[in-house]
Amino acid sequence: MINYLFQEKNWQSQLSDLITDPFELISCLNLSPDDLNSQALLAHQQFKLRVPRQFVQKMQIGNAYDPLFLQVFPHHLEMQENSEFSLDPLGERDANALPGMLHKYKSRILMTLTGACAIHCRYCFRRHFPYQENLPKDKDWLAIKPYILAHPDINEIILSGGDPLSISNEKLAKWVGYFEQLPQIKTLRIHTRLPVVIPQRIDDALLHILSSSRLNNIMVVHSNHANELDSNFDTAMQKLIQHDVTIFNQSVLLKGINDNYVSLTELSYRLFQARVLPYYLHVLDKVSGASHFLISDQKAQNIYQDLLKELPGYLMPKLVREIHGEQHKTPLNIY
Ligand SMILES: *Cc1c(COP(=O)(O)O)cnc(C)c1O
Ligand code: SF4
Repeated sequence: MINYLFQEKNWQSQLSDLITDPFELISCLNLSPDDLNSQALLAHQQFKLRVPRQFVQKMQIGNAYDPLFLQVFPHHLEMQENSEFSLDPLGERDANALPGMLHKYKSRILMTLTGACAIHCRYCFRRHFPYQENLPKDKDWLAIKPYILAHPDINEIILSGGDPLSISNEKLAKWVGYFEQLPQIKTLRIHTRLPVVIPQRIDDALLHILSSSRLNNIMVVHSNHANELDSNFDTAMQKLIQHDVTIFNQSVLLKGINDNYVSLTELSYRLFQARVLPYYLHVLDKVSGASHFLISDQKAQNIYQDLLKELPGYLMPKLVREIHGEQHKTPLNIY
């Protein structure tokens, strides 16, 4: 019990002690404050810097091009207007059937239990999503439940972001209990970046919630670069596997971060070392503020062809794009 309480405090105290000041991040890494011009600070005002200290420790001191640093640091190019990039590139507001619930895919619903994340990823397609109006409360379950019952095709609940693991175990347990009331729901899937950025989040209480549920448990973690993964991550994955959780990874193809086959090959092997299989490799969603991460489809196809030569089939992620209005991910034509 003492051990359990300690672990609980550990990830929660890390979550309440994030780096949120760009000048502090710069100084931790011995970088020059010149990188923080007025446009970069405006970008920070729009979507605040937020990063766990543990993640910062994996960045290389003095390297302004570090692949982890570039994912979180507000960049002056975010403020450049680009007509192809919009606030809601995936039309999620249209699929927002009820507060906190999106029904985009026939057999699955997405629930956004929270708008909070442990880390703010500059490329995030939900960086402008109106979470505050859209967090389900207990009373909303009274509407969600009949909605699901009226759609017997729904058999899976996907907890998505914000980051569903940034909520407390108590709250998570309550929602899992709700989902279990519906016999048609067979699977609970959690999409989360927390096990990568604060692996201690996989604590005993969470493992207990998952393993004592009748639902099949899937976790889709989110890592874009092998440097993000360490022995704490391995330990967290090991615990999940011991508790019968199936684990996958999804990544986003990002210019300057992982847009080459060497880096993606290394990521797949590193994930496999932790017994995690690559699932999706997304091309960037065209969300305002992220245009500097875009690579062309042609380049994505070339990288993917090179990757095919490097990796066994079981370590190949699916190269996909999300298209507004489509009821599934669309594979990119790779030739
Ligand atoms: C694509 C996607 C899903 C649904 O994924 P499928 O595996 O195609 O069912 C759920 N959540 C997020 C965040 C996604 O990007
Ligand atoms: S929802 Fe996921 S990708 Fe977006 S900021 Fe949060 S952790 Fe990053």
